[in-house]
Amino acid sequence: MMDTQCSITVYDSGHVQYIQGAFDAMREVDRRLNRFSEGSEVWRINENAGGEAVEVSEETFRVIATAKDVSERSGGAFCPVMGAVSDLWGFGSENPRVPSDEELAPVVDALDISKLELDGENLTVRLADDRLKLDLGAVGKGYATGVAADYLRSAGVDRAIINLGGSLYLLGAKSEGEDWVVGIQDPGGGPSGYFATVEVSDAAVVTSGGYQRNFEADGVTWHHILDPETGRSAQSDLLSASAITDDGALADALSTAYFVLGEEGAKALGAEYGAGGLLLTAEREIVRF
Ligand code: AMP
Ligand code: MG
Repeated sequence: MMDTQCSITVYDSGHVQYIQGAFDAMREVDRRLNRFSEGSEVWRINENAGGEAVEVSEETFRVIATAKDVSERSGGAFCPVMGAVSDLWGFGSENPRVPSDEELAPVVDALDISKLELDGENLTVRLADDRLKLDLGAVGKGYATGVAADYLRSAGVDRAIINLGGSLYLLGAKSEGEDWVVGIQDPGGGPSGYFATVEVSDAAVVTSGGYQRNFEADGVTWHHILDPETGRSAQSDLLSASAITDDGALADALSTAYFVLGEEGAKALGAEYGAGGLLLTAEREIVRF
């Protein structure tokens, strides 16, 4: 699912039958948000870029509103309208490549979050510039885990772990009064495979890092998290950035924003949202907030 693997663990054998429903709810999210699948809500918004406003479901509207809010509050470091920039790089395709300055300049210069127009009354979304493409790649996984958690919660499940390619949602507590303990993957490998743990209940823990998707060209490693200022891989002072909050979509957007902003900006943004963070700096220092 969403180009990665998904596992759902429910800690009560009486509730196992709800796992399928949770997977179905996540597939529905993917069906709506995948910008490459013809007819999806995001696909329709992009098809109409520079033209008409598009009516979307309330759920999708809310995710897009979250993405826009994080974009504004991060000073543009988080940019959910840079799909055309990502397309030039082709991360995730068979032939990723380094685009030229001439290719990047026009699409990077066009980036402007105010051109993502939201009408909460009519539930419509409009891209006011046809050089922009909505890309919810940085929020979709966390959002989907939150949707699965909501589904399981309403089915009466008290304790579950949803893991979508390392984007986690920890539903309930490990046991009464005891938090789940989550290991965060070590970008450099390391003996145990993780560099730190976080202890949480009823929360999403989402991690972003340049180690997750990249390719090498001319001795440079280019990764998939882009700096909207340059259109090139963000030159972060971080190796890994995790965000912790009970809203899955927000946790995912924040993890990406934290990574682009670096340590100081990440702390400030986390404080603004009342969200937690765990960072690994380039000097392998661990920062918690
Ligand atoms: P994540 O793995 O959640 O950090 O999200 C990375 C994905 O989000 C990339 O594969 C792109 O599709 C998209 N993306 C890359 N850079 C940014 C950015 N600065 N802001 C928002 N989305 C981005
Ligand atoms: Mg993210």
